[in-house]
Amino acid sequence: MIDYENLHNLNQPFFKEYEIAFKEVMESGWYVLGKKVNEFEEKYANYCNTKYCIGVANGLDALTLSLRVFNFEKDSEVIVPSNTYIATILSIVQNNLQPILVEPNLGTYNIDPDKIEEKITTKTKAIMVVHLYGKMCEMDKIMTIAKKYNLKVIEDCAQSHGAKFKNNISGSFGDYAAHSFYPTKNLGAMGDAGAVTCNDTVLAENIKVLRNYGSKTKYYNEVVGINSRLDELQAALLLVKLKYLDKINEHKRKLASIYQEGLKADFIKPQVNENYFDVFHIYNIRHQKRDLLKEFLLKNGIKTEVHYPVTPVKQLAMKGIIDNQHTPISDEIHLTTLSLPISYYHSENDILKVIEVLNKF
Ligand SMILES: *Cc1c(COP(=O)(O)O)cnc(C)c1O
Repeated sequence: MIDYENLHNLNQPFFKEYEIAFKEVMESGWYVLGKKVNEFEEKYANYCNTKYCIGVANGLDALTLSLRVFNFEKDSEVIVPSNTYIATILSIVQNNLQPILVEPNLGTYNIDPDKIEEKITTKTKAIMVVHLYGKMCEMDKIMTIAKKYNLKVIEDCAQSHGAKFKNNISGSFGDYAAHSFYPTKNLGAMGDAGAVTCNDTVLAENIKVLRNYGSKTKYYNEVVGINSRLDELQAALLLVKLKYLDKINEHKRKLASIYQEGLKADFIKPQVNENYFDVFHIYNIRHQKRDLLKEFLLKNGIKTEVHYPVTPVKQLAMKGIIDNQHTPISDEIHLTTLSLPISYYHSENDILKVIEVLNKF
């Protein structure tokens, strides 16, 4: 059996170092917002080529707080790709703002920059881009549009740790970038964790205040904040894994290249373009008989996933919020996409086995 993912196997190479890190935090007697969080923030900001990194509790909070700082008027509009994971859209809704969906490019699965301008109105305040599956959006075109219409840009980097577009790294483009360290992500913790990166001193300070009860000085509250702090233990574990992030990404890129070469032409494979350094959080193919294919693989001992089976507009929770927006390209992706095993613990032989079975379909 080849699992889609196995978090034990994925983390096993780091167990020894994790034990040391865990012991250090345990014995320090300091468990929230301390030395390890500071050190992680410094190192991760450095990795993302930004001035600041602020640790938060998870990726959704990183997105939500990034929007909250700007205090946009109720019902202002935020542009977001129609095929994203629900978290991106929830962060907009939770700020009482209106998500305006823009369809992805069917080649990159990322927001189509040529379809953004037609959705901009006088109410539009921001663009949330999502570097889906580990491939960057076309950030040059997007930043040009944002500048022209004076829109804020927030990057959702949950799936793109270390990815690059024209040699610039994920998380270094927007006013803010939101990162998730959910265990399955390329840089995954052993629980929930997240961060915001940015280059502006005031914007960084604002997130710091919001994540800690809206307080700069203990027991004095300037704004209405929340509790969304990164804890010392997760920060200590992330410091270990961050050292190996490039190695993890290289391994996933290697496995992806084996798929690219070995899979027959019946399957629509991810696009490879020289301006992109993809980190393959997900390696997806598309096929018209996706459900049969998934079943066939399972019968042959290979587990796969679908990212995602239901489009945001068709989610029950989105009734009355975005269900009046039409997203045929997104529909097509959700009906045909299939994610193949591509974990850090998978071997090249595992991938060759998956290819052998796939090519018999
Ligand atoms: C995982 C993910 C999130 C949410 O991160 P959490 O840490 O689970 O809150 C947001 N956006 C995208 C695209 C994701 O894949």
